[in-house]
Amino acid sequence: MAFLQKKHARGGEKRSIGWGVFRRCEGCRETLRADDLSANLEVCPSCGYHHHLSAEAWRQHLLDPGAWEEHDADLRAKDALGFVDSKSYDERILHAAQKAGVPEAFLAGSGALGGRPVQFGAFVFRFMGGSMGSVVGEKITRMFERGLERREPVILLSCSGGARMQEGTLSLMQMAKTVSALERLREANVPFLSVLLNPTTGGVAASFALLGDLNIAEPGALIGFAGPRVIETTIRQTLPEGFQRAEFLLEHGMIDLIADRPHMRATLGRALDHFVG
Ligand SMILES: [Zn+2]
Repeated sequence: MAFLQKKHARGGEKRSIGWGVFRRCEGCRETLRADDLSANLEVCPSCGYHHHLSAEAWRQHLLDPGAWEEHDADLRAKDALGFVDSKSYDERILHAAQKAGVPEAFLAGSGALGGRPVQFGAFVFRFMGGSMGSVVGEKITRMFERGLERREPVILLSCSGGARMQEGTLSLMQMAKTVSALERLREANVPFLSVLLNPTTGGVAASFALLGDLNIAEPGALIGFAGPRVIETTIRQTLPEGFQRAEFLLEHGMIDLIADRPHMRATLGRALDHFVG
C-alpha cells in the first residue's frame, strides 16, 4: 500500500510539472506553451497547424461581445431504437455530456457580427464526434427557419464525423430535413455562410455543409463523405496526395475559399458586406 501511495504521489508530481503547461503541436511536433497556443486560437505559431477550437471559443472569436442569445438548449435525444453496443445510447449521451460539458453536439443562437444580426451555429466535436442525430438536425433546421423568419444571415460551423449511428434512420433523415429548411432560406435570398472545420465528413458533408452561398474551409481541414481507405478499397485505386483536404478541394472547385482562423471573422464580415450590402 505504501509503495502504491508513493508511486501515486510520484505520478501526481510528475503530472503537475508538465500537465496543462506544455503541449505538442500535431503539425510540427514542437513543444509549445499551452497558454501561448490558446491565446493564438489553438493555431501553432511555428507551423500554422490548426488544432481543434471549441464551439464556445469559436462563438467568442467570431461574434460581437454581448449580443448573444442561445436557442433550443433544452432539446434532448430519445433512444427510439433502444440502441445498445458496448453501452446503451442513453449511457453514451450521459457520458458525452459529462465529457463535453454541454447536453448535445450543437450550439445555436442569435448574435451579431460586425454589428449585423446573424443566426450562428457550431458543432461540438467533443460530444460524440459532433455526430448529427435528431437533436442536432432539429437545432440546425430551427436555425435556418429563424434565419428565414427574421431575414438574418446564417453562419454555420461544421465539425462532424457524420450521422449518429445510434439513431439509425432517424439520424439519416436529418440530412433531408435540414436541407429542406435551407432550401426555403435560399428561396427567400437570405445568405448562408458555411464554414468547414476539421473534420467535416459523412452525412454533414453530404447535406448542408457544402451548400453554402459561400463554402469556407480552414487550412488543412479534412472534408469528404467516406474516408480515404473506404474509397480506395471500393475503387481499387490509390488516391492522390492531399485528397479530401481543404487545399485539394479548393483546387478542384468543391469549396470557394480557405481562411485561416485569425482571419475568419474578417472574412465572414466581408462576405456579409457582399451578400447583405
Ligand atoms: Zn506546429
